[in-house]
Order: sequence, then structure tokens, then C-alpha cells
Amino acid sequence: MPGSDHVSLAPASCTVSEVSQPYWDGLAAGHLRLPHCDDCHKPFFFPRRWCPSCWRSNISWIDASGYGTLYTRCLVEIPFDGRPTEEVPYAVALVDLDEGVRLPGRLRLADATLPIGHRVRLHFAEDPASYLPVWGRI
Ligand SMILES: [Zn+2]
Repeated sequence: MPGSDHVSLAPASCTVSEVSQPYWDGLAAGHLRLPHCDDCHKPFFFPRRWCPSCWRSNISWIDASGYGTLYTRCLVEIPFDGRPTEEVPYAVALVDLDEGVRLPGRLRLADATLPIGHRVRLHFAEDPASYLPVWGRI
């Protein structure tokens, strides 16, 4: 499906571990989950065994609001990593979530020219096999 927001890509370069499994399970269930430190009460990303703020390991998972601000974006027009050429173009973005965490993901192709600093919300891909959050205008 060339040039669409169809995101059926298993994260070929990502390793799903027991630490990150709740994140991927959440996405598959339509929830954006973040690891959360129960000692200093801060969410963080990427998933890890220790809080990057206080280095304690009392970690739980919270559901993110799904809203944030576009930090940066890029339109990918050349396939890489062995991906088929029909998957380009697609847009990727870094989003500063309202929870204070910066998260990578896809940007809806229709919103690929949104200005940096624009408010965005999470749009899950229609493909239930998607492993990536997809962002777009509110
Ligand atoms: Zn902490």
C-alpha cells in the first residue's frame, strides 16, 4: 500500500525483551503504555529495569494520554533495512508526550508537513499487527 498510513511492519531492528514486552503488548491492544517509577513518580521511555531519574527498580506501567507536541519529523523516501520499496514514502516523528516523555513513532502521511511544535494525538494504525504508534493532527 504505497504512501499510506498502513503500518504493518514488525520492528525488524527492535528486540522484544521481558522488560519491553508490556510496551509492545499495550500497542497490540490499542494502548500506549509507559514505564513509570513508583518511587519518584516519573514516567520514562525507553523501557528498562531501573528508573533513569532515581535508579530505583520499583517500576509499573501507566497508560499515556495519547497527546503531545511534535518535536521533529522526517519524510522517508528511500527504503532501508531491506524494506520493500512499496512502503515508501512514510513519515517518522519524535513526539514530546504530555507526560514529559519523548517517544518515536510514525506520523500520518497526510500530516507529514505539520510544523514543529504542533499538537498531535495518537492514531493507532488500522492494521492490528502494527507495532508502532502513529501520530497525527488533533
Ligand atoms: Zn524514579
